[in-house]
Amino acid sequence: MNTALALKKTKKQLHESGFKLTPQREATLLVLLENEKDHMSAEEIYFLVKQKNSEIGLATVYRTLEILTDLKIVDKVSFNDGLARYDLRKEGAQHFHHHLLCLECGNIEEVEEDLLLGVEQIVEERFHFLVKDHRLTFHGICQDCQQKQAAAKLAAKTQEASV
Ligand SMILES: [Zn+2]
Ligand SMILES: [Zn+2]
Ligand SMILES: [Zn+2]
Repeated sequence: MNTALALKKTKKQLHESGFKLTPQREATLLVLLENEKDHMSAEEIYFLVKQKNSEIGLATVYRTLEILTDLKIVDKVSFNDGLARYDLRKEGAQHFHHHLLCLECGNIEEVEEDLLLGVEQIVEERFHFLVKDHRLTFHGICQDCQQKQAAAKLAAKTQEASV
């Protein structure tokens, strides 16, 4: 979805919830939409928002992020460094998407498909627990790093053989 359309939809959502979209809030939202694939901390978002609107303060960015989190427009996540990061929820998604965190390069890939319906059903039946959402991060090695590791192994072997 393009940024302008996404902004329009989110504006409507904010409006329906009774929040006014001030220029500062709009700048914050725009930064999130423009960096949809990223998982930025409040400081990182603030740094980018400031380039659009130099009047804005960190406290305003924090407050806006809290509002967007309450409205489930963004989700708060944290990975290995423990920093709170903000992540746009996918259009129409009931549950939060999953993350694949590479332990070698730190890259984070997103999995939009829920894939957990069977697990959710078991949790509801066995634990009588009503599942509303979840956070799932897989820790592992991404494809790029696997290939690099395989190449390095091969190079080491070749060198060994030539000695
Ligand atoms: Zn994400
Ligand atoms: Zn789910
Ligand atoms: Zn990697």
